[in-house]
Amino acid sequence: MAKILLLSSNITRDPYPVYPLGMAMIAHDLLSRGHEVIEWDYLAEGESLQGLTDLVRAQEPDVIGISIRNIDNCSYNNTVSYAPFYQDIIRVLRLCTESPIVLGGAGYSLFPEILLEKLGGDYGIAGEGEVVFSHLAEELAAGRRPVTRILRNETPLTGGETAAAGRNPGYAEYYIRHGGMMNIQTKRGCPLRCAYCSYPALEGRVYRYRPASVVADEIQLLIDKYHADYYFIADSVFNDPSGHYLEIIEEIVRRGIQIPWMAYFKPDRFRLQDIELMKRSGLKAVEWGTDCSTDITLKGMGKHFSWSDVEESNRLFSSAGISCAHFIIFGGPEETEQTVEEGLSNIDRLNDCVVFASTGVRVIPGTPIHRRAVMEGMVTSADDLIEPFFYFSRDVAASFLDQAIRRSFGSRIDRVYPFEKDADKVRAFHNLGYKGPIWDMLLGKGINLERRRKRVQ
Ligand code: SF4
Repeated sequence: MAKILLLSSNITRDPYPVYPLGMAMIAHDLLSRGHEVIEWDYLAEGESLQGLTDLVRAQEPDVIGISIRNIDNCSYNNTVSYAPFYQDIIRVLRLCTESPIVLGGAGYSLFPEILLEKLGGDYGIAGEGEVVFSHLAEELAAGRRPVTRILRNETPLTGGETAAAGRNPGYAEYYIRHGGMMNIQTKRGCPLRCAYCSYPALEGRVYRYRPASVVADEIQLLIDKYHADYYFIADSVFNDPSGHYLEIIEEIVRRGIQIPWMAYFKPDRFRLQDIELMKRSGLKAVEWGTDCSTDITLKGMGKHFSWSDVEESNRLFSSAGISCAHFIIFGGPEETEQTVEEGLSNIDRLNDCVVFASTGVRVIPGTPIHRRAVMEGMVTSADDLIEPFFYFSRDVAASFLDQAIRRSFGSRIDRVYPFEKDADKVRAFHNLGYKGPIWDMLLGKGINLERRRKRVQ
């Protein structure tokens, strides 16, 4: 048994602070294996490292695990790298303890070797941390130092083995107050191959579904124990082709759970009765992983749907009263001045939805777009890419994209470019107690937008 301090190092609050679900899952796994777990969340603990120092000195943990969610904000227009902050945390820890430091989390797992060296951790866990972190902690607490410094879970958990997250009630209260939503995962893995995405390599190319009844139990727990009144399904894509997501919806409806929820969806061919069922289950808002705005660029980005699927999905969901937002990245593979103009005109036809645009595709090692960037001579395979590098099609200039998007979006309130421009307003709305994604207010859903806007300016 080891005494383990788990530390969530996320510093980003945009678009809203998100409960550190990965840390909560690891906490649950460690507790269930008999370890003592202490949690510390940078945002919820007041954004000061002094409290961390005091905690470490008082508790003297055997092992410290740091969860690293993102290494930058993936924004070409306003790039922020978080690596210097993670270095600060480790520097502070080294001054007050000799306990081994283990790095993990989604951001860390993208660059395990480089980040372990650059940040100065002792060990790293690439990919999901259940089981493997427990074994490592036992070894470290017993004074043994495994030779292999980067570990992986060689046998991924099945969906049934993925337990409910062990959330900290105090932290849950903080996140509900500042973001309004609690998050939940219904599956891991993704069989799709979007050009920029490393997620399938990290979590596997097969969906691992959690049973619908277990997911519904966890949603009920969010309501009963944590007083959640809005939840967010954090799967990379909620609507899987085999329809498991509908089993979850049916279970939610059967139990009469009715609080609002939102999720990431992939444009597809939906049946009306399924959309009606989702609405009855409380679905309020959908964030579409649309990514591109023409058939040519959708194909270039490795997406498996067409622009007509985007328009039809948007029409069906928005007609059902479900708020829709699309996220579009301009400048990716196959983008030309012609596809930009065609894409902006396609977007112009999307009614009753918010569209967020960005430019340039953040390149992550091992992804299809990384191979393409190497082939096209933009980076070399030796570049570590910790400092964000953004892929831009050679057939269009970044300045052209910027001007074309600004011209097309104009002053429309439901078109957002760049992404970050309304972050302060989103925070202000959450601080006033509004729940949900907030972008749905740009559609005037359920509020007097003018009155609210005056209050936050
Ligand atoms: S972007 Fe989403 S849908 Fe595409 S491969 Fe990644 S996780 Fe799967």
